[in-house]
Amino acid sequence: MDAQNVTPMMQQYLSAKEAHPGELLFFRLGDFYEMFFDDAKIAAKELGLTLTSRSGDLDKSPMCGVPYHAADSYIARLVAKGFKVAIAEQIGDPKAKGLTHREVVKVVTPGTALSDEVLRDAANIYIALLHDCGDGKFVLAGADISTGEAFYASYAGETAAQQIMDELYRRMTAELLLTEGFSLSDTVRAFLMQRLPRCAVSMVAAEADGVLLTQHFTATEIPADAGAQTAVETLLHYLHDTVRTDLSQINRLSFLDTRETMQLDTYTLRNLEITRSLRDGGKKNTLFDVLDFTRTPMGTRLLRAWLEHPLLTPHRIDARLDAVAELVENAGLRGTLREQLRSVYDFERLLTRIETQTANARDLVALRVSLAALPAVRTALGRAASRLLMRAAASIQTFDALRDTLERAIVDEPGLSVRDGGIIRTGYDAALDELRVFSHDSKSLLQEMEERERTRTGIKTLKIGYNKVFGYYIEVRHSGRDQVPDDYIRKQTLANTERFITEELKDFEAKILGAEEKITALEYHIFTTLRDEVKAQLVPIQNVARAIARVDVLQSLAEAAASYRYVRPKVTADGTILIRDGRHPLVERILEREIFVPNDTELSHGGTETMLITGPNMAGKSTYMRQVALLTLMAQVGSFVPARTAEIAPVDRIFTRIGASDDLVSGQSTFMVEMNEVAQILREATRDSLVILDEIGRGTSTFDGMSIARAVVEHIDTRIHAKTLFATHYHELTEMENEHIRNYCIAVREKGKNVAFLRRIVAGAADKSYGIHVARLAGLPTKVTARAEEILHALEQKESASAAAEIPVASAQETPLTDGMASLFADGTLAELRTLDVMTMTPLEAMNTLYRLQEQA
Ligand code: ADP
Repeated sequence: MDAQNVTPMMQQYLSAKEAHPGELLFFRLGDFYEMFFDDAKIAAKELGLTLTSRSGDLDKSPMCGVPYHAADSYIARLVAKGFKVAIAEQIGDPKAKGLTHREVVKVVTPGTALSDEVLRDAANIYIALLHDCGDGKFVLAGADISTGEAFYASYAGETAAQQIMDELYRRMTAELLLTEGFSLSDTVRAFLMQRLPRCAVSMVAAEADGVLLTQHFTATEIPADAGAQTAVETLLHYLHDTVRTDLSQINRLSFLDTRETMQLDTYTLRNLEITRSLRDGGKKNTLFDVLDFTRTPMGTRLLRAWLEHPLLTPHRIDARLDAVAELVENAGLRGTLREQLRSVYDFERLLTRIETQTANARDLVALRVSLAALPAVRTALGRAASRLLMRAAASIQTFDALRDTLERAIVDEPGLSVRDGGIIRTGYDAALDELRVFSHDSKSLLQEMEERERTRTGIKTLKIGYNKVFGYYIEVRHSGRDQVPDDYIRKQTLANTERFITEELKDFEAKILGAEEKITALEYHIFTTLRDEVKAQLVPIQNVARAIARVDVLQSLAEAAASYRYVRPKVTADGTILIRDGRHPLVERILEREIFVPNDTELSHGGTETMLITGPNMAGKSTYMRQVALLTLMAQVGSFVPARTAEIAPVDRIFTRIGASDDLVSGQSTFMVEMNEVAQILREATRDSLVILDEIGRGTSTFDGMSIARAVVEHIDTRIHAKTLFATHYHELTEMENEHIRNYCIAVREKGKNVAFLRRIVAGAADKSYGIHVARLAGLPTKVTARAEEILHALEQKESASAAAEIPVASAQETPLTDGMASLFADGTLAELRTLDVMTMTPLEAMNTLYRLQEQA
């Protein structure tokens, strides 16, 4: 591009663009942000804008633009699609002579966006950075700048990649940074593409000077390890570079100890639909949805985090359960908390807006309202007896002075803009009040002047008016033109009227306009002082926000328990899971016609370690298995559980291999994916794990599948001893029953040829396949199900599946089937089909053969 031939403005653009090659550049020109060249093409396509061209500059360069006041929503849309947007603003007075200076003031990226448009719901937005320390160790550093949370974790060994992927998935990471030189394996790449398709990935240069680390965190928080320091420092660098504020909301760094909470892997998180549904990744029909009775956005975020990080040690679980139990029993306390928390806004994010100076007066009102709820919350909690609630009560400061100031200072319903005035109450600031009195009085002064001039000139229609261009003027209709006195200075002539000014009016104007300006300036000044006052208390207010979040989650769990008749699980350390009349928390909520049938579970070391569950599809096997996993997880989160009684020893991991996999992007076959998942389970499960395996080996031939399934059960039984629920319809596996492997099935009731699933799990193997009945229920034609019964009967006679090939072909006389399906089996047809060498046939030959067979039938 020849920079010599372009306008100065375009040169300015090009140099800004050069500094931001990887971002879409929003270039402020007056009331618009304009985009040029490829940026314009991309933005036009993604946002549905009209692409125009700018003639003259660089041969009609393509361009498009968005009005600045609506820019946030456009930016939000781009960011949601994984783009980064650099914002170049006009600096200084745009009316000044010469070329206005323009500068990139911030970059908005998927992991750093802070506008309301992006932070629409309560969910966290995480950015993460992955650093290869070089010695087989990897560090993941992450943050949510909208709440100020920051963390890091380190990983090593062969499970490192898997653990990192799981962490990225749990947090639905919006943006991933890699320190330079990092190379992603194909598996991780495929994972990102499939599971986090919107995550923006980019490389950054590692920063190791530690300057920002010490600026944000205390010495005790700063990791000792050099690799971890580099990772966090590099992340902070990037954040400062993009957001360009001092980011003081990020003032706490936590180390994610992978041994402290259960590491839920991506499969399990998905399969059990804990916080995201399989269907669309949404919250509907998830455990999170069932348990969410939170009242505040902080609580909603924390509940989700708790569900995704269940606890491992009984005493920590019990501490939560004690608090939940107290809130279940003390409905009065729960009611008060629920009532008070209702008026608490998302003050974690409010604080961030205050910090980034994007807060307006409405945010301060929201903060004031939130703070106003605190005394009642603290008083209510003051009577609580459980440790967590007492601790919360102790950490809730009420900021009375600050609240009082905000109360006295800010009007109840301020406007959106902080520069237009109308935000500070009368009585708060003497200087402001004085200006306002003058400004108010001036209106009557003006009226007086108008009266006076009418009398003096005798012009009845004389009026004093105001417009932005001319300021104050005296308006006289043409009919009164002759009566205009000499001291009137003509300003403007319109169709019916003429406008004048006088010396007196000019003086007045200077004073009054000065006053209005002074008022808005003073109001803005008072506002920023208040904002700074809040900012000065950022850390203690953040701490209160966190305490409120915990109280909110606890009351939410209690409310769910009370609403749905959950019971407190007894948490033990003896490796037992003992559930009486357990229910599936989601299925019991969504069943419409049936009522949910509760079921028992008894798993223990040395007792039943593996439940081998046989039975046809639709009997209720997977519901039952998920139910056991969900109840265990709920208990470890500190929730009550849907059961009559439950005794649950925390498990170290929950592994699941359920249902059809949708891992198609990675280019692996379904069977391969399934085997990968099983391999992971066999590698990582311990005797303290809970393993759910549903129909493994389905993706291959019967014998293959059955053999693999059997070998897997044997391996778990003899080597791992994990508590295992294994569903299969290979009846042959029921032979494995021993001291630790017990057969179970879902009870059925037969009525003639129909069966009803009783949904109750009972000891023993299912002795028949009821698949045909299910097929009938599903509406397969009677002719087909009748024929299936014949085949089944024959198979049972031969006692071996391999005999399938020898089953006599149904003759046309025996089965009065006349449709196309049956004719396939007509005399000779099947035999001929078998002899065809499909691999060497041309498509045309195949067509012809099919045609002939059809004719023949
Ligand atoms: P399977 O895994 O054996 O194919 P599912 O577990 O998918 O069967 O259950 C099929 C359906 O049966 C579920 O969608 C649910 O509606 C119903 N169901 C399962 N268990 C129960 C139960 N305990 N009580 C009532 N209905 C149930």
